Order: sequence, then structure tokens, then C-alpha cells
Amino acid sequence: MTRKERYAAVINYFQEFAPEAETELVYDNPYQLLVAVILSAQCTDKRVNLTTPAIFEKYPDVYALSKTSFDELFPFIKSISYPNNKTKHLIGMAQQVVNNFNGNIPMTVDELIQLPGVGRKTANVITSVIDQQPNMAVDTHVFRVSHRLGLVSKNATTPLAVEKELIKYIPRELVHKAHHWLILHGRYICLARNPKCEDCGLQDICLYFRANYVDRK
Ligand code: SF4
Repeated sequence: MTRKERYAAVINYFQEFAPEAETELVYDNPYQLLVAVILSAQCTDKRVNLTTPAIFEKYPDVYALSKTSFDELFPFIKSISYPNNKTKHLIGMAQQVVNNFNGNIPMTVDELIQLPGVGRKTANVITSVIDQQPNMAVDTHVFRVSHRLGLVSKNATTPLAVEKELIKYIPRELVHKAHHWLILHGRYICLARNPKCEDCGLQDICLYFRANYVDRK
């Protein structure tokens, strides 16, 4: 199977079985999504979704958030991983958006990564989810699933290398959706320790499955 055929098979599968894939973070606008994604680093979306409603109620926009203090915001975030850094990042992000971007969340990766708490992965999520830009955020799930399925080469040992290979082969108009396909597959089926291969419709093309369950027979 060529790499092109492998991609086509994976894309066809997800288009059939997960046509509506989208982020599990709850948000109403770009500001809320940016807050949620910053909070989601090393934390589950479920936990973030339990936390954000109170934050959004108290700080309905970037202006309100920019004026708060560490001591005021911290209690909202303390149940999430790395609360100290995330509290500082949220306030710094809001202040920079107000001061440098007229209060509007910027919508390019280059601008977003200037904000505190926003790395390439977060910027890719924001621009692909809000604006459907063909940017691929590579987290631990995307990284693992891409390798197991053989979508990327063994040389792709960093998130950036995986991102570049995925972008090369996935049609531009599907990149923003493919991110969710791979994340959700990794979160619920292709688990890190015990992938649920028996429930997976990608067995026939999966290199991991072939190596662990077919070639060993
Ligand atoms: S067959 Fe198993 S290892 Fe391969 S993608 Fe499916 S769940 Fe993951």
C-alpha cells in the first residue's frame, strides 16, 4: 500500500464514521476557545469544561480578563494542572490581546504564538477550529495514532515533523477536520497502553496492528 493509498483509506474511513468530528471543548467565541485551549495543556477537556463556565461568567470578554489580578483569578483555576502558570498566562494573554490587537483574538499562527501560554499547537487549534485554516495541531494522540497507522515515517520524531508530513498528504480542505479525527480516535479507541483494536475499523491498514497481531501469528 502506498502512502497515498494509506491516507485515502484513513480519510475515507473517518469521513464515513466520524463526519461531524469537532473539538470537545465548550466555547461560544474565539476568546472562550483560546482560554479553554490554554487551560487544556496537560489536562482533560472534561476537566476544562467543568472549570470554564465560572470563568466566562465572571470574565465575559478579554477586557474583563485583562483587568483581573492573579489572586482573583487563581481560585477559578486551582483544580487544573499547572494553575500558577495558567493563571499568569491567561492574564498576560488578555492584556496583550487588548494592548496589541485591539481586543480581537488574532487569527494567524505567527500572531497567536506571541501571546503568553500560546505555543504552536494551541495556535494551530485556534486557527483551524475557528477559521478552518489548514493547520494541524499535533498532540500526544495525533502523534501516536499517526505513527501506528503508518501515516508518517519513523523519522518523524517530533510534533513538528509529524505536522509537516500530515499536512503534505491530507487535502487542505480536510486538515482542520483530520486533527479531530486523529485526536478522538486516540482518545477513545487507539489508547496509548491498550488500544481497542477489536473495536477499530482501521485494522486492515494499521501497521501497529499488523506488527502486533498479524505478523506474530
Ligand atoms: S488497529 Fe489498533 S493500533 Fe491500529 S489504529 Fe486501530 S486501535 Fe490503533
